Amino acid sequence: MALRACLATLMALESFTACDTEIPGEPDAAEATGTGMLTVSVVGPNSADQRVEAAREAVRFWNVVFADLGLRRPFDTVAFLQQEIPEDLLAAYSRSVLEGEAAPAEPNAFTRVAADVVIALSDSAIISFAASLDGSGHWLVGIRTDLIPPLSLPNVPRNLVAHELGHVLGLGHNSDPTKLMCGRPAPCRPAAFQSSEPRFFELTEAERARLRELYGY
Ligand SMILES: [Zn+2]
Repeated sequence: MALRACLATLMALESFTACDTEIPGEPDAAEATGTGMLTVSVVGPNSADQRVEAAREAVRFWNVVFADLGLRRPFDTVAFLQQEIPEDLLAAYSRSVLEGEAAPAEPNAFTRVAADVVIALSDSAIISFAASLDGSGHWLVGIRTDLIPPLSLPNVPRNLVAHELGHVLGLGHNSDPTKLMCGRPAPCRPAAFQSSEPRFFELTEAERARLRELYGY
C-alpha cells in the first residue's frame, strides 16, 4: 500500500524523536469521506494519564477545524479502553513505519479493538507514529511515554496527538516549525510544541485546502 512506499524515504532520514509517518500524496486516510465519523479509542492502563485528555482535546481540535472549513466533523466521541499495552507489539509497529521492518502479524491486540482509530499510550520511548492497520481503514497511533521530554513538556502532548491525527486525516509534513504538521525532512522537533499556555499549533493554508479537497462534498 501507499504508506509502505514511503518507508524507504523514511529510512534514509535521521531518526526523529516523535514523528512518525509520511503520508504520501494520495492518502489512505480518506475513509471518512462520504461515510460516518471515525470512532476513536484511547488504550492504556491509566485513565488519569494526561494523554487521555490530550487525545480528547486533539479530537475536538480537528472537529472544530473541519467545522470552520464547512466540513462535517471527522471524529466521533472518544472512548477510553483500560488495558495494558503490548509494548513489544507497539514498538514493532513503530519500527515498521520508521525503519521499514515488516508489519506485525494481524489480527492482533490492536486490530481487535473496535474503533477506527486506536491511540495507544506507551510507557516506552518509542518513536510516536500513525500507521494504517490491515489496509481496511483502521489506524493505530502510538504515543510515547510522557514521563520524559518531549512529552513531559507543557503543551506538547495535545499537539503531538493532533499531529498524528493529522496524518490519519491525510496530511503530510510541512517545513514550518510554527505549524502543527511540521516534520521530516524539516528539522522540526516536538519539543517546539512546548508552551506555557495551552494552544494548538496552526495548519497552513495549503493543508486547509487539502482537507477541503479530501472531505468537501
Ligand atoms: Zn508526522
